[in-house]
Amino acid sequence: MRVSRYFMPVLREDPAEAEIVSHRLMLRCGMIQQAAAGIYNWLPLGFRVLRKVEQICREEMERAGAIEILMPTIQPASWWKESGRYEAYGKEMLRIRDRHDREMLYGPTNEENVVDIFRRHVKSYRQLPLNLFHIQWKFRDEIRPRFGVMRGREFLMKDAYSFDLDYEGAKRSYENMFVAYLRTFRRMGLVAIPMIAESGPIGGNMSHEFQILASTGESVVYYDAAFEEIDFSVDEVDVGRLTSLYAAVEERHDPEKCPVPPERLKKARGIEVGHIFYFGTKYSRPMGATVSGPDGREVYVEMGSYGIGVSRLVGAIIEAHHDEKGIVWPESVAPFKVALIGLRLDDEACRKMADGLYEKMLNAGIEVLYDDTDERPGSKFTTMELIGIPWQVVVGPRSVRQGVVELKHRATGESFELSPEAVLNRLAG
Ligand code: ATP
Ligand code: MG
Repeated sequence: MRVSRYFMPVLREDPAEAEIVSHRLMLRCGMIQQAAAGIYNWLPLGFRVLRKVEQICREEMERAGAIEILMPTIQPASWWKESGRYEAYGKEMLRIRDRHDREMLYGPTNEENVVDIFRRHVKSYRQLPLNLFHIQWKFRDEIRPRFGVMRGREFLMKDAYSFDLDYEGAKRSYENMFVAYLRTFRRMGLVAIPMIAESGPIGGNMSHEFQILASTGESVVYYDAAFEEIDFSVDEVDVGRLTSLYAAVEERHDPEKCPVPPERLKKARGIEVGHIFYFGTKYSRPMGATVSGPDGREVYVEMGSYGIGVSRLVGAIIEAHHDEKGIVWPESVAPFKVALIGLRLDDEACRKMADGLYEKMLNAGIEVLYDDTDERPGSKFTTMELIGIPWQVVVGPRSVRQGVVELKHRATGESFELSPEAVLNRLAG
């Protein structure tokens, strides 16, 4: 992409309305633009990141055996009357009437919807286990939308729903999602600690929130300091060890019963990026979703649901990856891999070299943002630092004279002088 042809409305000044760094940087970089309280436009740069986060969620769900569908944003109220949640949900639910005066709603979540799909098509335990997921916009009329996309009213969620014959099966499905979540967040360069969370009416420990520690987080959490020794960046985190350590959200933390000695117990703030939940027959029973078991008897299907805040993650990743100059994207979610910065492009030879390198990068399938404008060098560098593309390649008069370009790593500030061919080889990998 050429900057001269792109739409990237970078702001010169810090916007006054942003209270936290991710919100400020997302506005500064022109990633998002507010449409109404808690409702955002995703502009090109932001949308590229959102798509990458979404794709990682999708790949890890599929790796774990979940199957993608797409349920609508608008649902009939009748399902929610069946489950008993229509009245209970309160003012967070946006209720709508269509032209025939039928009660509809903008879905805040999709349990009822997915149970309706299930009950119409699945009749036998032989079709289980089943896990259906989708990635879809939700609406919750939050009382205090704030911090940009972190607490929006309209937000993108990945939500998966598991169906099993019995508790043992449901527990396996839950653990399967637990592991998938660890992989998902690791791929985004995040350390998300699974914490014991509010569980449903069934009780037990079958609910975890995945929390990223951050001073700007809205949750208060307690955890064993031993978590700080776990290496979340490795391929397979030791799940046994992880679940043997204590971590809980404030609502579930009981100082009387806490197994961690006070000197090892830490209190901090966290951003909830995911929530997994076993709820048994809470929806299958009132909505009549049964399967016939091996003995021919009809049983209510056992369920769990598993959410990830896809749009919230974009903010959360920035909270975890920035410095005083701007965002420092992990490569896996960066809007572009390479920022190609052309200097003195009014000079024929410079222009030729930069244009040539750009074409070669495109041909090699490298995602590159090429600053081909006639802005001052200082302002080009500042913008690229701000938007945080992992690799910068600088082409200028010196490059042309010496046959080298400068390759710079945004995260470490390290820079190398390499031939254009060597740079291409390195970045194509
Ligand atoms: P919270 O306590 O933050 O309101 P929740 O318990 O209501 O979250 P869930 O219903 O479990 O959230 O939704 C799954 C995920 O969706 C959450 O873990 C979070 O990452 C994300 N999410 C929930 N509400 C919002 C929101 N208003 N804006 C952005 N993301 C959200
Ligand atoms: Mg909520």
